[in-house]
Amino acid sequence: MPYLMEDDPEVARIIRDEESRVENTLDLIAAENHAPLSVLEAQGSIFSLKAAEGFPGNRFHAGCRHADALESLAVSRAKRLFGAEHANVQPHSGVSANLAVYFSVLDVGDRILSMKLSHGGHLSHGDAASMTSRCFDFQHYGLNLKTEQIDYDEIEDLAKSFGPRMIVAGASSYPRLIDYEKMAEIAQSVSAVLLVDMAHIAGLVAAKVIPSPVPLADFVTFTTYKTLRGGRGGVILCRQKHTDRINRAIFPGGQGTPSLNLIAAKAVCFHLGLTEDFVELQKKTLNNAACFAAEFERLGYRIVSGGTENHLVLIDLRSKGLTGARAEKTLESVGIIVNRNVIPADPERPEVSSGIRMGSPAITSRGMQEPEARQIARMMDKSMSNIESTQILNQVAQDVRNLCKQFPVQQ
Ligand SMILES: *Cc1c(COP(=O)(O)O)cnc(C)c1O
Repeated sequence: MPYLMEDDPEVARIIRDEESRVENTLDLIAAENHAPLSVLEAQGSIFSLKAAEGFPGNRFHAGCRHADALESLAVSRAKRLFGAEHANVQPHSGVSANLAVYFSVLDVGDRILSMKLSHGGHLSHGDAASMTSRCFDFQHYGLNLKTEQIDYDEIEDLAKSFGPRMIVAGASSYPRLIDYEKMAEIAQSVSAVLLVDMAHIAGLVAAKVIPSPVPLADFVTFTTYKTLRGGRGGVILCRQKHTDRINRAIFPGGQGTPSLNLIAAKAVCFHLGLTEDFVELQKKTLNNAACFAAEFERLGYRIVSGGTENHLVLIDLRSKGLTGARAEKTLESVGIIVNRNVIPADPERPEVSSGIRMGSPAITSRGMQEPEARQIARMMDKSMSNIESTQILNQVAQDVRNLCKQFPVQQ
């Protein structure tokens, strides 16, 4: 970064520090990933400066010839990758994408049925802390506390009594597959539209290693930087008939000029998403998550819902006498980055919580497979079982650094 070093060595140093942190720690945050350098190049490109309000062929700024080519390419690739009728690639984030979907077909005050945050849903699905809850009338479904899985009968009952105009499926910390057919059937039975927010799992869906909601949902939203490895941003997929409403809800409804640099990066990830390598990577992502779950189970931990069918594993730490916050802090001290997470019916406050959520996407992008996934689980157990022993923690920290050296972020 020669220009940055010259103009602002202080920021340059912080960026170098972050590069070193990423290289020398194990990223198990289920919502994160390592992106290919090609994606980062596209994100850092000259397109970050282009103003281009509107859509290809219909802009409010001049000089959009290449911007139009870029966005059209991103849109056609998104449609192809996911088999969608229409794609809007302009949302700055997953939350912006969800807001646009709500405002595209609903009136302020309309009813929406979605999953509650404390059972794995997302803030933007009408949590009290999110402004979405001030614009719409949300009711929430939860998990069956016995199975810790979605209870479709409960959703059906709630849909019948509440009469929502929209039902939202999709979650941030739900380790199971969602039955989109069932969700679509329930939505249809009460004449609600169905939004599936597949932010976490878009990469797995793109690779067709788990079922796709696209043929069954009226709207699908996702973020591009999680399993999909496409850099920051959000996308909306929808049926052809909703094209104009969705586009208007993004611009001029909720955003101004799009981030064309992010759209460039999205185009790259949609392109890479069609490759055999990408499909292999997503298969390994699933397998590594299954290995985490199996190894933790062997070590005596309780896995929420009894296992995983996607890229993430939720672990209940109560039997180990640990809170999520304590575990997160201890693990970070040895270079393992996970987040604390509430478990269903968690007795602790969310800031403390009784569980940790761990995801396999980033370690899989580094090339790690079953032996490493199992080794990481054992290193985590060793740290969490010896939180007072500086000597043991130092030893694990060394093992973490060695593993990181063996598997550089960019190969
Ligand atoms: C990550 C996530 C989002 C939010 O994306 P941002 O880019 O942070 O706005 C939305 N919905 C779900 C289910 C998510 O997991």
